[in-house]
Amino acid sequence: MKPSPASLIPIRAAVLRGPGARLKIERLEMEPPREDEALARLVASGICHTDISFCEGGVSFPAVLGHEGAGIVEAVGKKVRGFKPGDHVVLSYQSCGRCRACRAGHPVDCGQFWEANFGFARLDGTNALQGGVRGHFFGQSSFATHTLATVRNMVKVPRTLPLAMLAPLGCGLQTGAGTVLNTLAVRARSSIAIFGAGSVGLAAVMAARIAKAAPIIAVDTNRRRLRLARELGATHLIDNSRGDLAESIRAITGAGVDSIVESTADGEMERLAAELLNPGGKAALLSGASAPSRLPGGRKVKSVIQGDAVPQRFIPKLIRLYQAGRFPFDRLLKYYPFGKINRAIADSKRGTTVKPVLLIGEEPPIRK
Ligand SMILES: [Zn+2]
Ligand SMILES: [Zn+2]
Repeated sequence: MKPSPASLIPIRAAVLRGPGARLKIERLEMEPPREDEALARLVASGICHTDISFCEGGVSFPAVLGHEGAGIVEAVGKKVRGFKPGDHVVLSYQSCGRCRACRAGHPVDCGQFWEANFGFARLDGTNALQGGVRGHFFGQSSFATHTLATVRNMVKVPRTLPLAMLAPLGCGLQTGAGTVLNTLAVRARSSIAIFGAGSVGLAAVMAARIAKAAPIIAVDTNRRRLRLARELGATHLIDNSRGDLAESIRAITGAGVDSIVESTADGEMERLAAELLNPGGKAALLSGASAPSRLPGGRKVKSVIQGDAVPQRFIPKLIRLYQAGRFPFDRLLKYYPFGKINRAIADSKRGTTVKPVLLIGEEPPIRK
C-alpha cells in the first residue's frame, strides 16, 4: 500500500546528483516507517571513506549517502521490539535478518549483505525517499535530518555521552577495532603492523594496545597521523614515504610480524601484507580485495568487513572501553555543520581531518 501524501515526512538530505558532483542539501519527502522500521531524527553522522568513494560513482543517481548516523528514535513500527521513541541510537550496517548467517548471529556474513548495504533500496526494491531519490545506503542514508532504520542496524547507546561523538562507531571505528579484537584476535606480546593511520587504522592501533600487542607498528606517509598513532599506542612508526617498508619492519622485529591490518587499499601494500607475515601470522585486508587463498607456513590473509562485529554487542563494548579511558576515539574527530559537508569531504581527502563528523540536528542535553 502506498502511503497517502499527507503522511509523508518532510526531511532535508545531502543529495548526490551525479558522479563527482558537490552534495547539495535539498528538501525531500520520506515515507513514514513500515511496521518493521523505526523513524530516527539524526543528530550527527560520520563521513567514512566509502561515502567519499561512492561520491565519485558506483551508484545510480540521485542518491543520499551516509552510513555512520546517530540520533533519536521518534517513532517505531508495530513489529519493532526493544526500541521506543526517545531512545538514543547509533546506526550500523544493515543485514537481512532471515538468512542462515543472520539467524546464526553472524550478520556480517549475511547472504544479502551487498543488497542490504549497497543496493540503495529496501530489500524488496522499494525506496522510502520520494522523487526518485535513492536512499537506504547501509540501511540508513544518514546525510539527512531523518532516516528509517531497523532493529538489525540500530544500537541503543547511553544518554550520558553526546550522540555526535558516538556516530562514527557505526562503521569506521568498529571496523578497525573489530579487525584486531575479533578477526585477528591479537594476543598479548604478539607483534602487529597497521598499514594506514586513518580512522580505521588508528582504531586498530588503540585496539592493539587494548590487546597488549607489542610491538605496535604504525605505517603511514602523513607525519601528523603518525604522531597521533604514537599518542594512541603505537610503539614504532614507519614513514612510508621514504625507505623500504619490508626492511624497516625487519629492523624493528628482526623478522616479520604476527598480525597485519591493511587499511590503505593500495595493491602493493596488500601484496606486502602477505609477504611480511611471520609463519602462522594473519593479515586482514580491509579494502574488500580478494585475498590469496593459500600461503606457506600457516599464514593467513583474509578480507574483512566491519571487523566481524555484531554491532549490538561490539559498539556498547567500545563505549565501555572509551569510558574506561582505553579507547579515546574522540581524539580522531572533527565536527562540521551539516551545510559544510563538501568542506568536510575535501578535508578528509586531503588528510587534514582524520574523521569528519557532521552536526545535523540538535544534540539533546547530556544526562549526568
Ligand atoms: Zn564505512
Ligand atoms: Zn542475512
